[in-house]
Amino acid sequence: MPAKKTAPRFSITAWMLTAGIAIALIFSGITAAQVAPEVRLPADPKIAAALKEVSADRIRATIEKLVSFGTRLTLSAQDPASIAAGRGIGAAREWIKSELERYSKDCGGCLEVKTDAFLEGPADRIPQAIQITNVYAVLKGTDPESAKRIVLVTGHYDSRNGDTFDTKGDAPGANDDASGTAVSLECARVLSKLKFPATIIFLTVAGEEQGLNGSQHFAKVAKEQGWDVEAVLNNDIVGGNKGPEQDFGVVRVFSEGIPVAADEKQLRQIRGLSGENDSNSRELARYVADVGRTYQTELKPLLIFRLDRYLRGGDHYSFNEQGFAAVRFTEYREDYNHQHQNIRTENGTEYGDLPKFVNFEYVANVARVNAATLASWALGPAPPGNVRLDTHELQNDSALLWEASQRAGSYEVVWRATSSPEWEHAQNVGNVSRATLKISKDNVIFGVRAVDNEGHRSLPVIPVPER
Ligand SMILES: [Zn+2]
Repeated sequence: MPAKKTAPRFSITAWMLTAGIAIALIFSGITAAQVAPEVRLPADPKIAAALKEVSADRIRATIEKLVSFGTRLTLSAQDPASIAAGRGIGAAREWIKSELERYSKDCGGCLEVKTDAFLEGPADRIPQAIQITNVYAVLKGTDPESAKRIVLVTGHYDSRNGDTFDTKGDAPGANDDASGTAVSLECARVLSKLKFPATIIFLTVAGEEQGLNGSQHFAKVAKEQGWDVEAVLNNDIVGGNKGPEQDFGVVRVFSEGIPVAADEKQLRQIRGLSGENDSNSRELARYVADVGRTYQTELKPLLIFRLDRYLRGGDHYSFNEQGFAAVRFTEYREDYNHQHQNIRTENGTEYGDLPKFVNFEYVANVARVNAATLASWALGPAPPGNVRLDTHELQNDSALLWEASQRAGSYEVVWRATSSPEWEHAQNVGNVSRATLKISKDNVIFGVRAVDNEGHRSLPVIPVPER
């Protein structure tokens, strides 16, 4: 009978629809339905206003300017004549420097524009020794103590085509990675109009395509000089390539699980406490997701619990190697016809990393998530120190203790089920250095974060056992 036949078919369709919606929600990063409202960061009107200043037109101008240098291969020309002629990586470097200096002029010299130049090679992809130059601007914190704390945003300004030794041929690199460079520059332009207690560094590196050389050098110097870099945001391929399966509502955020810099003792502790999902980089990624929800940036950070794309790498890894928390932003779906390709048309398919494939509104939204994260972090208090879980006695309650942090007005204990990707609960325990919760440490993962008097949060710190 027709009626009997249609009924089950309908329910299967309904089931498939529901499952389809559930899958769509998972893949668009909306798994945070369990996140209690108290976990969320409150919006700061100063940050919300700054995000409105982020301009897709400015980003477009930056990307087109970078593309205009023909090639930005790290091995390409950087002699005075080529710089004057506006072709090669030297010309790109000089332009980035002048652009940052221009932003600094607009804020009364608030940015310190610097270069980090060094000789590299010969190496695998560097046939003979060359000079590599990172360009960066420092927005020094206004509070002398907090100014030692650093948050950093970076993108790589070098590019390549199909041949990583082709010093002459065009390598527009509009998406990879003029887009990430534009995010770093736009964050510098917009955030330099504000004041922050902590320090923000806006970095652009070279040598990425030859072997992460620029970021490796910069991260090493930071480590050797004892810089307190607490968070690194790396933007690489954030152009929102206009392919048919692109999702302009999502940006992927990659973070390492077990830290590459962990020593044997730390690895034993990670195994003992099941801390494989709580590296500092992963806490930073969760913080990015939180910021995204708070400021409704039209872009959902999709947390990928993986160092980078499958078997691939990027500049954040250089910072991870030195023990710094670092994450990578990348568009939802990459198009390999528009990466590392010579510009050409074959059988009707266009190849090459050209500006026409970049969605500048999308890059602006990525810049907004970055700017909101940098600003929230730099306005926030330092995280609590020496966070511990009291394990002197076997008990079902959990007692946490910590040391006061700078500029904190109170502290929050956050927790989540061991199987949950993000923090699910938060409880403000006041301006204390010890709190006991009626929740078993066996069943959840705890963190403690500092809250300042305006509601800014630090990154949470995972406790170690106090025996
Ligand atoms: Zn890249």
